[in-house]
Amino acid sequence: MTDTAPAAAVFAVHSPATGTPVAEHPVAGPQEVSRAVERARSVQAGWAALPAARRRDHLLRWKKALAGELDAVAGVIAEETGKPAGDAALEVVLTLEHLAWAARNAGSALRRRRVGTGLFALHQRASLTYRPLGVVGVIGPWNYPLYTPMGSVGYALAAGNAVVLKPSELTPGTGVLLARLFDAAVPEHSGLLTTVTGPASTGDALARSGVDKLAFTGSPGTARAVMEACARTLTPFLAECGGKDAVIVTADADLDAAADAIVWGALSNAGQTCAGVERVYAVREIHAALCERVVERAGALRPGSETDSPYGPMTLPAQLAVVERHVTGAVAQGARALLGGPGSVRAPYVSPVVLTGVPEDAAAMTEETFGPVMAINPVADVDEAVARANASRYALGAAVFCGSGRAGAAIAARLHAGAVSVNSVLGFAAVPALPFGGSRESGFGRIHGEEGLRAFSSAQSMTVQRFAPPIALTSFTVPAAARERAVRLARSLHRRR
Ligand code: NAD
Repeated sequence: MTDTAPAAAVFAVHSPATGTPVAEHPVAGPQEVSRAVERARSVQAGWAALPAARRRDHLLRWKKALAGELDAVAGVIAEETGKPAGDAALEVVLTLEHLAWAARNAGSALRRRRVGTGLFALHQRASLTYRPLGVVGVIGPWNYPLYTPMGSVGYALAAGNAVVLKPSELTPGTGVLLARLFDAAVPEHSGLLTTVTGPASTGDALARSGVDKLAFTGSPGTARAVMEACARTLTPFLAECGGKDAVIVTADADLDAAADAIVWGALSNAGQTCAGVERVYAVREIHAALCERVVERAGALRPGSETDSPYGPMTLPAQLAVVERHVTGAVAQGARALLGGPGSVRAPYVSPVVLTGVPEDAAAMTEETFGPVMAINPVADVDEAVARANASRYALGAAVFCGSGRAGAAIAARLHAGAVSVNSVLGFAAVPALPFGGSRESGFGRIHGEEGLRAFSSAQSMTVQRFAPPIALTSFTVPAAARERAVRLARSLHRRR
């Protein structure tokens, strides 16, 4: 449900394409956030007590409602982010896939399972289960305002938690609609998903509200601030931050397929994708041929706000300056612009930019650009490509294009990345069973897959004593001789191997 308590102020959301206001939303302050968390807590126990199959059915009803409103939801996403309607619809489709997977798999992933006991606890029956945490706070970004938060929201709900969602102040309407659809589809558990809207201060209030975990998606700088706020209450924290994803292209790769995927991975959503393509390392033999194919394809694309535009405006106006700084800086440091250049930034759009020969210490290679810009640098061989790809302070996604899937997988296994696609880009994002997340400046923790369900659960270990042990080692009454026998037995067993 949406927080309907009177709020002190409202804020406006503007269309990134035209700058005109599209909606107003209340600014939730600490009191409104606190009320939302309390209300969520009051309904969570009833949700957690349901058999897993009932929770699954409720979540599938919500999924059905989302599917029924696909066009309306995509419409709000497109209006708030500026992305083309087709891209917004694809975002909803991917979200539905994830919600369905989380709903259908939570029961088996989290249910109690027996584990072996070891020799000294043979008299015990040991098991492990995953209990809900309680109330999960989710702070979302604007670039995929439905898909990205759902990686936490859907999985946390499926694991038996309540959720308070703070969407980005650029895209609050998507979050509001998500909670409204939940209430309409699952009225008997109204309040289980609440959306609180507002700027950074609302997120800060959520981080300090005493939620049982906070799942954050956004930039590494903000992650640090939110983590600090969480530290005060030892609130567990999960950080999904940015990336500087690399693609490696080997000499025997299908260059047409690679170019096609690279162009999409770098330019779709105006490059505003955490796991989008930003760096390409192509072995020298095929570097020129790959660049030619990429430039040919990227050069045919014009950003715009028509329904058939390949990508739209930059959603966050401040990002335009970052993109311009990276492109200008790279060229000043000796990079060659094969397509576009500093002049490609014409607010609110950025035309495709393809750079080569970019020094590895240029901001365009070290910082997240988050725009439709790619650097394609030549490397001597695969070893150099791997070393350069791994030299980043980010480690989120990556891709390898290679003549053989098996050889590509061997290269992929050497990459410091939370997820790697071989012979595609972002292939992992459409597979709900695969966990997603990074390390280094890309954050920590995982969403999606069984790891994602467990990220919003607490492991509970249990032993049930089946019979009295022959040697009661955990009793003051155990005779010294029996204890010594046990030690002798352990020593002889563990010395063998
Ligand atoms: P951001 O860090 O500016 O904001 C993210 C969210 O944090 C927003 O809701 C914002 O209101 C909130 N926030 C800001 N300051 C806060 C504070 N002090 N306390 C609490 N909340 C606060 O990021 P953004 O610009 O919205 O999103 C873009 C970034 O997100 C990029 O770096 C992108 O790579 C990353 N991202 C990562 C993933 C992933 O899954 N790894 C997915 C999408 C986006």
